[in-house]
Amino acid sequence: MHYHIILTEICNLKCKYCYEKSMQEFDNGLGEKWDYDEKTPFDSEIPVEKLKKFLKPEDTLIFYGGEPLVKADKIREIIDNVRCKFAIQTNGVLLRRLSPEYLKKIDKMLISIDGTRERTDSSRGDGIYDLVIKNLKWLRSEGYNGEIVARMTISFPDIYEQVMHLVSLIDEGIFDSIHWQIDAGFYKFDFDKVAFTKFVDEYNNGINKLLGWWVGKIRTGKVYRLYPFIGILNRLSGQDATSGLPCGSGYSNFTFNTSGKISACPIMNSVKNFYCGSIDEGIKKEIHVTDEKCTKCNYFKICGGRCLYWRDAKLWPVEGNELICKTIKFLIDSISSRMKEILKNESSGIVSSKDFEYERYFGPEIIP
Ligand code: SF4
Ligand code: SF4
Repeated sequence: MHYHIILTEICNLKCKYCYEKSMQEFDNGLGEKWDYDEKTPFDSEIPVEKLKKFLKPEDTLIFYGGEPLVKADKIREIIDNVRCKFAIQTNGVLLRRLSPEYLKKIDKMLISIDGTRERTDSSRGDGIYDLVIKNLKWLRSEGYNGEIVARMTISFPDIYEQVMHLVSLIDEGIFDSIHWQIDAGFYKFDFDKVAFTKFVDEYNNGINKLLGWWVGKIRTGKVYRLYPFIGILNRLSGQDATSGLPCGSGYSNFTFNTSGKISACPIMNSVKNFYCGSIDEGIKKEIHVTDEKCTKCNYFKICGGRCLYWRDAKLWPVEGNELICKTIKFLIDSISSRMKEILKNESSGIVSSKDFEYERYFGPEIIP
C-alpha cells in the first residue's frame, strides 16, 4: 500500500497555478458541497510511534505538503524510526535540508519542474529552475541513484518542446523519468472556452508529435520513462487490470492528514466526505469514481475517471470537462493505435517488457 503523509500545509513558494490561483478563487462553492474538517492543524501532529505501528515494511510512505522539506526534522525522525519504503513529492528548493545519508533512504523523488528555465521560472519564480537543477546535480554527485521524476504542470500547449527539454536532462543523468498533469478543471474561475479549446487542439498535436518521437526511440532500443505513455500502455495491454483511478487514490493510495485521519487523496486531505479511516482505526472503506459520466464511458477501464477531486468538485462547466476528456481520449486512442508497433519491438527483443514496468501509485497520476 502507498500512503501520502501531509507533513505541513505550508509551502515556501508561490507558484502561479497553486498559490496565485488559490488567492483568486474566492468562493468555488465547495464549502457548501463538502464538509471541511476545521480541526486539522497546519503541521502534522501524528506521533512517529503511531506511524511505526501502522506501516508495514512493504508499504511506501510519500512525504507531501505544502512543501514537505519545510519539515525536514520530522522527515529525519520518521526515517530513523519507521521501517517502510519512502518517496517524496517536493519542489526541490530545500533539498539540502536533508543530508545525502537521509536523501539516499528516499527511493523515489517527484520534483516539480515545468520544462525549460524560462517556463519553470515564469510559473514558479525567478531562479527556481537553476536552484533545483543545482540541487539535483549535487544530489547525483553525492551518489544518489534512486528515481528522480520530473513532475510537470502543463499550463501551455507546447508539451513536445517542454518534455524534450526535460528529456535532455534525462540524457544528462539528472532525471530518470517525466510525468505531467494539465492544469485544467482544478479551479472554478479559470475556464475560458475559447482559450482552452485552442489549448486542447494544440496540446493534442504536441502529444501526437511526442508519441511519434517516443515510438521512434523505442525502435532504436530506448524506452524513455514518460509516465502517461507507460501507464496507459500498461492498462491497454492488461498489465494493470483495474478500472480504479491510475493514481490509486481511495483504494491503493491513501493520505494521512495532519491530524491522523486517512483520506482518499492528498488534495482533499481535510474533507470529511473523503475520509476512509484514521491512523488509530485503520482503513474502513474505499472510495472510487462513481459518476456515471465516467462509469458509462468507453474509456473508463483505461482512464479510471482521471481524478477523484476533479470529478466530484465539478468546478468547470460540462463543456470544459468534456474538453479535458477530449485530451484523455486522444491520448488513449493515440497510444492504442501504436500498441502493436510498440509491442513488436518487445517481441523481437529490441526492448524488454521490463522497460515498460513501473511501480504503481507512488505519485504519477498517469492520466494528465
Ligand atoms: S474520458 Fe472523461 S468521461 Fe471518460 S472515464 Fe475518463 S474522465 Fe471519465
Ligand atoms: S489525480 Fe486527483 S484523486 Fe488522484 S491524487 Fe491527484 S488530486 Fe488526488
